[in-house]
Amino acid sequence: MSAPLLSVVEARKRYGAVSALDGVSLDVAAGEFFALLGPSGCGKTTLMRCIAGFETPDSGRVTLNGADLSGVPPYRRPVNMMFQSYALFPHLNVFENVAFGLRRKGEARDAIQSRVAELLEMTQLSAFATRRVNELSGGQRQRVALARALAPRPALLLLDEPLGALDRKLREETQFQLKEIQRKTRTSFVIVTHDQDEALALADRIAVMRAGRVEQIASPVDIYERPATRFVADFVGETNFIAGRVREGALETAFGLLPRAVCDLPDGARATLSVRPERIGVSRAGGGIAGRVEDFVFRGEYTLLRVRVAPDVALRVGSYDERFSIGDDVRLTIAPDAGALFAEGA
Ligand code: ATP
Repeated sequence: MSAPLLSVVEARKRYGAVSALDGVSLDVAAGEFFALLGPSGCGKTTLMRCIAGFETPDSGRVTLNGADLSGVPPYRRPVNMMFQSYALFPHLNVFENVAFGLRRKGEARDAIQSRVAELLEMTQLSAFATRRVNELSGGQRQRVALARALAPRPALLLLDEPLGALDRKLREETQFQLKEIQRKTRTSFVIVTHDQDEALALADRIAVMRAGRVEQIASPVDIYERPATRFVADFVGETNFIAGRVREGALETAFGLLPRAVCDLPDGARATLSVRPERIGVSRAGGGIAGRVEDFVFRGEYTLLRVRVAPDVALRVGSYDERFSIGDDVRLTIAPDAGALFAEGA
């Protein structure tokens, strides 16, 4: 990566006994769509607030284009924040809400007019310019908030659960719009979300946080396919955890030996293999692990089977083409490069 736009270096923040940030470091590139993902209370909002300047880390640094931001108040940072509540002005119309930051900066009337028109066009709100915001739908309000936050051309936009207030269908539509607007404006976006699907769908890179620390920073594909820890594998997507012991480059399990393409754990080590349901092959005959279908749920594009492979081990397996019934005998295959192997305790 070229010189980052934003750098957070070893940021720490305590609230009494709670360590909200416990040494967080990350870089965000210019024009990047970056997601902070993690369960409630892991420190995502605290990190955002430290970047925006509403909160000061107890130690560590936040730099933008190499310049240290300590002591720089929020309004002097080239950073804007879009709040989950949107915090729009209900007594102002859409145009005035979007123009707000520009007026405060004392920009010329013509410049304000054309910038607001440009943003209303981009967010498909041109027809609503004179509507009051309390006469808009949730999705429209969300777009007003986005247009307002982008109007002063921040180098970095922070978005706290930007789609949190929208229902599922609207969320999915809005994801595409958000991505498109981010691309068009070439602004770096950092979004906070606890929704893994949203992070996977939107971000160029994701930082998965847990209890004030970063567990992994990687692309959505790597986070999903190559989780660095058991926590990441569990938090992002659906997975099977298969316990076993390493033996000559394979994992010895309750239902047989699973050869691994790469295994850097020593012989005899206790380990867990995380493998996604869709990475397990299933057929009616042939070689592989013998199992019996115990249950299934229809998920639209695939069916999720629960297959018993040992008295105390059942695996979740995605079947895309074939239909199975309860009681069917099946064969499962797990490719040597499928999933990720963790040492016990990792
Ligand atoms: P959520 O997804 O629920 O918003 P989060 O990941 O954004 O959670 P934070 O809001 O950053 O988490 O909170 C991290 C921890 O710090 C939590 O345990 C929280 O209770 C605590 N915390 C946050 N702000 C304060 C504060 N002002 N005073 C005391 N404790 C705080």
